[in-house]
Amino acid sequence: MAFMINDKSNLGLTSNIKYIKGVGEQRAKLFKRLEVLTAGDLLRFYPRTYNDWTHIVSIAQAPSEEPCCVCATVDVPATTHKVRSDMALYKTRARDDTGSIYITIFNSEYSAMRLKENEEFIFYGVMSGTGRTRQLNSPLFEPSDTGRRIHPVYPLTAGLSNKIITKVVESALVLADEKLPDPIPAEIRERYGLYPLHRAIRNIHKPQSMEDLEAARYRLIFEEFYTLQVNLLDLKRRNKQPTELKLSCTDPSGFYGLLPFEPTGAQRRAVLEALEDMGSSVPMSRLVQGDVGSGKTAVAAALCWCAAQSEMQSALMAPTEILAEQHFKTLSGFFDGTQIRVELLTGSVTTANKRRIRESLAAGELQILVGTHALISEGVEFQRLGLVITDEQHRFGVKQREALAAKGRNPHMLVMSATPIPRTLALTIYGDLDVSILDELPPGRKAIETYAIDSGKRERAFNYVKKHLDSGLQAYVVCPLVEEGEQDLAAAVSYFERLQRRQLAGYRLGLLHGRMKAAEKEQVMSDFASGKLQALVATTVIEVGVDVPNAVIMVIENAERFGLSQLHQLRGRVGRGRESSTCILISDAQNKTALERMKILCSTNDGFKISEEDLRLRGPGDFFGKRQHGLPELKLASMAEDVEILRKAQEAALRPVES
Ligand code: ADP
Ligand code: MG
Repeated sequence: MAFMINDKSNLGLTSNIKYIKGVGEQRAKLFKRLEVLTAGDLLRFYPRTYNDWTHIVSIAQAPSEEPCCVCATVDVPATTHKVRSDMALYKTRARDDTGSIYITIFNSEYSAMRLKENEEFIFYGVMSGTGRTRQLNSPLFEPSDTGRRIHPVYPLTAGLSNKIITKVVESALVLADEKLPDPIPAEIRERYGLYPLHRAIRNIHKPQSMEDLEAARYRLIFEEFYTLQVNLLDLKRRNKQPTELKLSCTDPSGFYGLLPFEPTGAQRRAVLEALEDMGSSVPMSRLVQGDVGSGKTAVAAALCWCAAQSEMQSALMAPTEILAEQHFKTLSGFFDGTQIRVELLTGSVTTANKRRIRESLAAGELQILVGTHALISEGVEFQRLGLVITDEQHRFGVKQREALAAKGRNPHMLVMSATPIPRTLALTIYGDLDVSILDELPPGRKAIETYAIDSGKRERAFNYVKKHLDSGLQAYVVCPLVEEGEQDLAAAVSYFERLQRRQLAGYRLGLLHGRMKAAEKEQVMSDFASGKLQALVATTVIEVGVDVPNAVIMVIENAERFGLSQLHQLRGRVGRGRESSTCILISDAQNKTALERMKILCSTNDGFKISEEDLRLRGPGDFFGKRQHGLPELKLASMAEDVEILRKAQEAALRPVES
């Protein structure tokens, strides 16, 4: 077996995650899907939400219909009930001083056997039934002496349960000590009363109390805004000394001829704005901002093309290998059949290839170099670097960007960001920075028609689904669930079975939920992708990495339970092919905000507008629970909710700091 490192002396922030205790090669692959490749990534892989197990109620006072925690002693041995050949229920009972509850464990013998008679556990779940027949279906539980904590809930992917991730994070936490480099200078931490990074990281994963958690979040949100602001300020204050790298070619039409599509008006505008900068003798410092899918890569490529026509090289740096590879593929595709050569340089490139790339780069035979921060490593020398582009900018420190720019002589610089900034905040955040906004999605991606209905119209909605399935198209059905915990499994399965028996009887359905084995999930996904399955019934696991253009309908049950950005994200699974797509939100909620959220989704597909409406609808302090992190760059911070912290971080970023 490969050696397992779980002691400080060997494990570092850049260590491959496979060396962390409990990971290994197989799980490392799963973590890669969550974009967690190193121990450092894991420290920054924050929980999605938390379950508070410190607040324990008595069985008699436990509420129904919402999650709660009780501390109770098992008082009968578990019994097994075979429901089907592949499904079993395990039943037992537990009591405290105020009453007793029936407990049902679904399909997990292992789990059920841990519930030994006369032992005390903390159970976390949703109670149902009344009086003597109160019950908990598939609760989460732990022995009472260790369970009384705030439990983190992580974003999951097939094959990585919350339990596994929690354990693995715990192993990585040995790195969160005073030596952890802190991007916020001590002086600023002191001034704003911020936790040092190591303490914030520990508490975001393993909070000692809700207060600690709050302070950790505050600090990390502050950091995200601070980094953003420092980055933007640096871009603004860049050296405006004249550059000799003035482009001779500022007409992109030759490049447009290479594209397999027509550029959007917004793309053309952004390209022209940048080319105007680059055609002058002052180096460009420009930010291109556009929602995911707005086509930033083509804008970058147009500028690289013009630079190449002007005998200059371009460097495109992305924060992860996955993104760098994606850019490389896209650019290689555009420039296929031209004189322009593109190469990819990341940590995984073989030594021989690295050498070859470096040589042709220095000789000027290579026009475009795409890569990760490997681009700034020693020995990478350009013959004439004219343009530096960084994608998903504020994941990089200013230093990395500057290091790349230093490989040229005051080159033009373009920064691409996907963080949707509500228009109302744009001035505060950008100030007088040169910004091009891609506010138009490429055509071909059809707008998704969205409807909100109440459950009285559910049958009609499914008839509509059936009509599409009959014509060879596919659909997603999102289960009425929010969590990915055991307590929801039973609900997912029974919902699925009901669909199979009733609304969608006779169709080929698949079920996807967070507690399935990796292999099972992959099977279901690939069966759906290949068309073997017509409809995929799923909990929110479909958020991660599913792309089936033939799926044109999405039904979302209990839509009121999801946040605006999460609904927008979920909905983005359809509308990827030629056919027009529909999203049906089913909800009986009467709550004003919920209704308004759905109204917004029905009225627009525009990510900007949605973020703006989010800002308007959400009050501050609505941190936990529904909050989703749909933004690719800011993990915790929300432009909508954290405006106060944003202002402070801005003020802090303006302070001169000794470094
Ligand atoms: P992002 O802004 O998120 O980086 P990408 O550059 O990855 O977006 O583009 C998203 C997808 O849209 C890609 O598949 C790309 O080929 C496609 N695309 C970009 N511009 C256009 C366009 N003008 N017309 C049609 N498709 C486009
Ligand atoms: Mg992109």
